[in-house]
Amino acid sequence: MKEKKWCSGAGSLAVPEDIKQETTPRICCCCGKPTPDGSNYCNWQCTVDLAKRNGGRVITPNGLPIVCVRADNAMLEHEHADHPDYKFPVTAEYVGAPVELPEWDCSLKPQTQALIYTDGDVALTLYECCFTIWSVHNGLSLGGFSYWKAWRLTEESIAKIRALKPSVPGPGKPISE
Ligand SMILES: [Zn+2]
Repeated sequence: MKEKKWCSGAGSLAVPEDIKQETTPRICCCCGKPTPDGSNYCNWQCTVDLAKRNGGRVITPNGLPIVCVRADNAMLEHEHADHPDYKFPVTAEYVGAPVELPEWDCSLKPQTQALIYTDGDVALTLYECCFTIWSVHNGLSLGGFSYWKAWRLTEESIAKIRALKPSVPGPGKPISE
């Protein structure tokens, strides 16, 4: 049987109706070799290589590895690394009471969030298009996306945020009287 390309990845066209996932061997959208597990790419490197070949922009202001390839072929060190006020990634961990679940809830795994703003007291992050505000003093969530559960920034992330000097000065002395 002739191999047909099964590809819905970056820069590809829609999958034709007559291609059946169950019966068609999949080949890598980048290098054309059969994929080991029926996915669209051999590995992450092929995913990135195809985005580069398609002319995607590399958005890694901190020089970190590419972890996200968008549908427009942009390659980012964080999904929100193209936000105009993006600083660097920080890590939030779940610190709530142990959840009695038979299986680990993957939504409680540590999250890599994008630091957008800090004034030294609070920090604003972006994760999956949602904002969370955090105390830079104890690292706890103060409101937003991560507020409904108990989340905290890691000590390492808090230290990095504290070390960041605000690039825009504040309004100066508080207004009195
Ligand atoms: Zn490949």
